[in-house]
Amino acid sequence: MADRSKFTEQAMPFMTPLYAAALRMTRNPTEAEDLVQETYLRAYRGFEGFQEGTNLKAWLYRILTNTYINLYRAKKRRPEQTELEDVEDLYLYRRLGGLEAAAAGRSAEDELLDFFTEAEVANAVEELPEQFRMAVLLADVEGFSYKEIAEILDIPIGTVMSRLHRGRKALQKKLYDFASTRGLVDVTQQRWTASPSARDELGALIVADDDEVDCNRALVQLYQFLDGELTHERRQRIELHLNGCQHCFSSFDFEQELRIVVRSKLQTEVPQGLVQRIVAVLELERRGLNRPANG
Ligand SMILES: [Zn+2]
Repeated sequence: MADRSKFTEQAMPFMTPLYAAALRMTRNPTEAEDLVQETYLRAYRGFEGFQEGTNLKAWLYRILTNTYINLYRAKKRRPEQTELEDVEDLYLYRRLGGLEAAAAGRSAEDELLDFFTEAEVANAVEELPEQFRMAVLLADVEGFSYKEIAEILDIPIGTVMSRLHRGRKALQKKLYDFASTRGLVDVTQQRWTASPSARDELGALIVADDDEVDCNRALVQLYQFLDGELTHERRQRIELHLNGCQHCFSSFDFEQELRIVVRSKLQTEVPQGLVQRIVAVLELERRGLNRPANG
């Protein structure tokens, strides 16, 4: 059982990432501030139910997500789009020609940093249907494990994997669309023509440990590899393949750098005054002066 008097000290350091996530969920700075404030209030009220020594950040995200769903999504009349069109794997890598950057002596990360503006990355994320957006944010921006995301969103791990898979491909498609709208991309040849099939079925995302690693199998496990979700043995097998396969090495590198770039473009500062406002609300709560809990 956690001690309420330690709540502020323990929970406040997570405000910056919580606000950033709230902003991507609500797509509105004012609503994001309110959402974060309500999250802290609910977390404070429920803090005695937090198991000391477990993951406080994940616990706070779970409250943020539930609060968002209960308070904000209910208000929106607009039906959430839930389907995504099929997009091939390694969409951006293939479209952008992958190896050009390396050949020109620049890293994929440098190239991508210049390529997309912060607004484009934010829009691409915010335009994802909600269920995919949450999974991508939690994994790629916040670095939660599949298990943690499953707990935060209250869905099975298999669903986490498939939402991430589809969400990331859709994100790449949107980023590419922005870039081509600005006339930034030449129509490039696909550099590597491994079968660009849609691998969205969960069964296809899981490969047995003793399977040979070839390019297709490496690709299937690309994100699990980058997410740190593979067994040691499987990881080693893929690393062995990457060491000998320039195609796979470049595509893995590209995906990894893209994630770093997306994360860096989504950095957000907590608005001035929000911290003080929340501290004040928590102090009122401590003294029993707040409105009663709703819900
Ligand atoms: Zn390969």
